[in-house]
Amino acid sequence: MGTTQVAARGGSWLIEDAPVDGVFTRERLDDEQKMIGRTAQEFTDGEATPALDRLEQKDWALARTLVRRAGELGLLATDVPEAYGGLDLDKISTIVVGEAVGRCASMATTFGAQTGLAITPILCFGTEAQRQTYLPRLITGEIVGAYALSESGSGSDALGARAKATRQADGSYTLNGEKMWITNGGFADLFIVFAKADGEQFSAFIVERGFPGVSSGKEEHKLGLLGSSTTPLILQDARVPAENLLGEIGKGHKIAFNTLNYGRLKLGAMCSGGARLAIEEAARYATQRKQFGKPIASFGAIRQKLGDMASRQYAVEAMLYRTAGLIEDMLEAGHEPERVLASLEEFAIESSILKVASSETLDFILDENVQIHGGNGFVRDYPAERHYRDARVNRIFEGTNEINRLLIPGMLARRAVKGGLPLIPAAKRLMDEIMSPPSMEPSAGAPLEAERRAVVGFKKVALMILGTAMQTFGDKLADEQEILLATADIIIDAYASESAVLRARQTGGLLHEAAAAVYVNDAAGRLEAAAKTALAAMAEGDALRTLLAALRRLLKVSPINTIALRRRLADATVERRTYLF
Ligand SMILES: Cc1cc2nc3c(=O)[nH]c(=O)nc-3n(C[C@H](O)[C@H](O)[C@H](O)COP(=O)(O)OP(=O)(O)OC[C@H]3O[C@@H](n4cnc5c(N)ncnc54)[C@H](O)[C@@H]3O)c2cc1C
Repeated sequence: MGTTQVAARGGSWLIEDAPVDGVFTRERLDDEQKMIGRTAQEFTDGEATPALDRLEQKDWALARTLVRRAGELGLLATDVPEAYGGLDLDKISTIVVGEAVGRCASMATTFGAQTGLAITPILCFGTEAQRQTYLPRLITGEIVGAYALSESGSGSDALGARAKATRQADGSYTLNGEKMWITNGGFADLFIVFAKADGEQFSAFIVERGFPGVSSGKEEHKLGLLGSSTTPLILQDARVPAENLLGEIGKGHKIAFNTLNYGRLKLGAMCSGGARLAIEEAARYATQRKQFGKPIASFGAIRQKLGDMASRQYAVEAMLYRTAGLIEDMLEAGHEPERVLASLEEFAIESSILKVASSETLDFILDENVQIHGGNGFVRDYPAERHYRDARVNRIFEGTNEINRLLIPGMLARRAVKGGLPLIPAAKRLMDEIMSPPSMEPSAGAPLEAERRAVVGFKKVALMILGTAMQTFGDKLADEQEILLATADIIIDAYASESAVLRARQTGGLLHEAAAAVYVNDAAGRLEAAAKTALAAMAEGDALRTLLAALRRLLKVSPINTIALRRRLADATVERRTYLF
């Protein structure tokens, strides 16, 4: 399917202008994509959410039934080629399904482990025999999969795993070790297990529960996601046949990291779906609940929250569908595993951006949802409390948000140095331009023209900070984590702002414009603070003064009346009692 996007490379948006019609937006979903989204939402709202109380009692037989049901509906098969019984849909459809399933976080976690963490590595790295053996049963939900990378001593430092695989004379492997926090651990039939062959070469294996020496530990007692199984996986002289080695010995890191690239994008979809639902709940509650003789939705304090929630969620969706469209464009010529891998790797930066932005936006929205519910937000009679607990882990798994923030400027800098992305010449041109800057005054002309110009400035700030950091620290940049975190925040806000403005300009309409304008205006303040923190740590005296003067010119954003715009968003949210977009 065509997304009408211009061929682009990961990170290139930072130095190139994207044409308004060149991005994919949620508003461009076609009938087929909407249909699978509706099917997924009916399944989630109609079957998974009503089962939550039993799932939270650890009724894993019911969890298996639900996975099977998702399989019957085709929801597990979107990424899988027809040769293995799959639907071979575009990646945008996968994102639509992820958003819908994200309305029930426990189910979404079970679902994500099955589709993202078990199916993806077998599809992309498995032999033909492995694909034929496992994929048809995984996509029907006949068998349930899990992904066993983390250990008690190695989470972020996944390559520091201690689990060991010893090759036997007959070519099989004996695995020993203990994996931790394994989603679906209590009932999965197969595990993608990472272990070091001969204690050194990080490798992946497809391990069936039925193999001798494989067992699960006890369920973890968690803060949230109580309806999703999380257990250790214990491997005691577990015998794994030679044909169950996944990929090559010593190449497990490629499997682990590429699986996570896709996992992060899909997590972005699930967080987005959870946020849409929470805004809906907040809107309904705020119209029903009366205090001082009026619905609380009539108070400016509540309207401000609803407006903020809508605006921030709008930007996340704009990034999500833009990124999925970019990936899909690279897959226009076909969905062969090698091409899928290349496209996921190409847009790994954007996937990390989405992972961080969507999980933090979701937490912001769920926190405000609890606040809007007042005391009712803190008790179990309303879903707000459960959502709040369930979401916290999104900032921890699929690479913590710290790790993902470090990856964003790190990957950009690597691409710049290797010449894949011409960031260095762009940064040089920018420094010349800063000395004689064009006017950044907003014009009163076309809608969002001031915001479009502001975004041009944001991207230049991102480039200036990244360029200065690379120049200042050279190959020691990785040691400057605080600078990298600030740089990541700027890059995230630049991508989010640009995506929101492009979406609003493409779609048109006062509400779209309000959502984008509020986001950009608020981002300008955040960007300024982050940029000043980074610059003050990298320069002093005249050099710092010059950089700060440049920053002021690049961030010349005139404040707009965001109170009025938030009210506009809130009023429409309240009137429709649902999320607007
Ligand atoms: C509910 C749940 C389900 C999970 N499901 C799975 C699963 O299915 N499969 C699986 O393999 N794993 C799973 N995990 C594990 C998860 O991926 C890890 O918890 C996560 O990667 C973080 O690792 P850690 O817990 O060891 O934290 P640590 O790595 O110890 O991190 C602790 C803190 O230090 C920070 N930190 C660590 N290293 C650095 C660094 N280099 N620079 C800066 N800061 C750093 C982190 O950001 C974090 O804030 C799950 C976890 C949970 C809670």
